Amino acid sequence: MKINVLDSSIYNHISAGEVVEKPASIVKELVENSIDANATAISIDIVKGGIDYICVTDNGTGIEYDEVDKVFLPHATSKVSSLKDLEAISTLGFRGEAMASIASVARVTLMTQTANGHGCEIKINGGVTQSKSPISMNTGTSVAVENLFFNTPVRLKFLRKAKMEENDITQLVSRFIFSHPHIKFDYTIDGHKMYSHYAGELFSAMCCVYGLDITQNVVKVDYSEGDVKVSGFVSKIGFSKPNKTYQTAIINGRCVSDEIVSKAVFNALEDYLMTRQYPVFILNIDMPIDQVDVNVHPSKLNVRFADPEKITNIVMSAIRQAIFSAHSDFVSNSKASEEVKQDLPVIPDGVGKSFMPEENSSIQPVEQEPKLVEAEIIDYNPINPTTIMEFERDDYIRKQVSMAETMPTDTKSKRILDGDVRIIGEIFQTYIIIEKNNEMWLIDFHAAHERLNYDRFCKIMEDKQLATQDLLMPYTHRVNASEMNYLLSIQEQLREIGFELDQFGNDEIKISSVPVLLKDVNLKEFVDDLLFNMKLTKNKTPYQIKTYLMQSSCKNAVKSGFNLSAQEIDELLGKLGSEHPVLLCPHGRPIIYKVARSTIDKWFKRIV
Ligand code: ADP
Ligand code: MG
Repeated sequence: MKINVLDSSIYNHISAGEVVEKPASIVKELVENSIDANATAISIDIVKGGIDYICVTDNGTGIEYDEVDKVFLPHATSKVSSLKDLEAISTLGFRGEAMASIASVARVTLMTQTANGHGCEIKINGGVTQSKSPISMNTGTSVAVENLFFNTPVRLKFLRKAKMEENDITQLVSRFIFSHPHIKFDYTIDGHKMYSHYAGELFSAMCCVYGLDITQNVVKVDYSEGDVKVSGFVSKIGFSKPNKTYQTAIINGRCVSDEIVSKAVFNALEDYLMTRQYPVFILNIDMPIDQVDVNVHPSKLNVRFADPEKITNIVMSAIRQAIFSAHSDFVSNSKASEEVKQDLPVIPDGVGKSFMPEENSSIQPVEQEPKLVEAEIIDYNPINPTTIMEFERDDYIRKQVSMAETMPTDTKSKRILDGDVRIIGEIFQTYIIIEKNNEMWLIDFHAAHERLNYDRFCKIMEDKQLATQDLLMPYTHRVNASEMNYLLSIQEQLREIGFELDQFGNDEIKISSVPVLLKDVNLKEFVDDLLFNMKLTKNKTPYQIKTYLMQSSCKNAVKSGFNLSAQEIDELLGKLGSEHPVLLCPHGRPIIYKVARSTIDKWFKRIV
């Protein structure tokens, strides 16, 4: 076997695979180089998701005429000259292979001028220098990258749709704006200005990228502990997003994708978040560089902390402090409730114990009871809610049908209100309790309502009798670029079920009509829900997407938290029994829980 020492052009191609994974990676390298060159203004232009054209222009130091050729040599860098430098690295680039890799897979034109030197323009096609000539320009550097992968057709084929590449770049640019708010950024897509941030603070950067809706709902974070400093913004209690798109962690000036930070923020706020809701945050974490390793991944998005637990605790403290000082009303409320507790008669230690039976000396049994109850119910009920939740959404109809078949025949055919039934009432504005056949039935009113709506909706669609209603005030919803793409991609399916959704300006969508049957749908929740489930519908057929949209809209047509009149309960239960063999809501949650009297008797030790 002969061992070949690879020619540099081949080597560059191979390392290009690491550096130039997609257009966004090129933008990342070029902007990092501009930042390292101390630029205070950077403009980024892309055409067709960066596949046709990327140009990054800065007003940084520029490159000396005689040094320009070296830029494109592998391992050519002005940032590291010894191993010692590597350990104390603080610039963004340091591998010295980005420019060489980019130039090997595209047509690159670099123009540059230093403050006192000559300007230079150099053109390189697929790693081969075409020309180098003197020019005159402002101090700084401009790198244009055209026809990405023109010489590696296989890789060109693997690129995704231009729109998706564009979304990645947009996301990346927004992160640069957050991590370097003091730099002026201009970002243009296909000739249209997307972001324009005049050098400022993080807050103005956030306004520029996220708009007012989010910026009005954040509080400032400013916290130090030892040599770690955490600053930035986090969403107020009550404001959240159904995905993690709006989370940015910046460690020592570098945006990273890091689960540890995201998890820590989530933990700090968990008690105030609904399920599947995530806080919005932009956090700068500054710490000694020897406590964090940013070298884990070639594209340097991942980091490794020397002491992850310490970071988790510090981030949690930072978030809690920010939230509690911002929500001082909230704090005083919780204090108030503590005071109320203190006002309750307290039995002084020792006193009174003598005349109280030992087992009554605390209220513990009451605290333990709920656990016991829960366990019993789940044991008892043949439908275990956790397994139901695990159903794949598009499988739900099939599974529900098979479930209906295995259900006792009486629930299939008879009306719930048939026979000896007593309606006890409604609790927690959510459940109805009825007594029937020696059983206590707990009915989730919302799930039931949802089910009814969904079936009625299906029937109307089947009969092709769908009527829509124009909204007096169209509903608008701010979305980011990828969310916009997704919503526009399901526009047709939405129209088929009666929702008219269109793009509205650059970053909003507008819903102008809804199906009459769902005129009460909560559009905000409906859109949030759709966006949260973007991934779920990715590989689905239009039919499956339509089914999902119908379920989702029905769910959001049901208002939460309201009292029911006895008559409404009657009506609902009547319908539920007659129309419903399947006792699961369209999302697969159970509608009814039955607890046998014998089970309740066991709780109270009437029977053993
Ligand atoms: P690295 O950034 O890891 O040093 P690159 O291949 O990205 O390697 O760049 C090689 C060198 O080219 C840099 O070290 C720097 O000296 C020079 N360079 C690249 N882009 C710029 C720029 N925008 N302004 C000034 N110098 C640049
Ligand atoms: Mg670089």
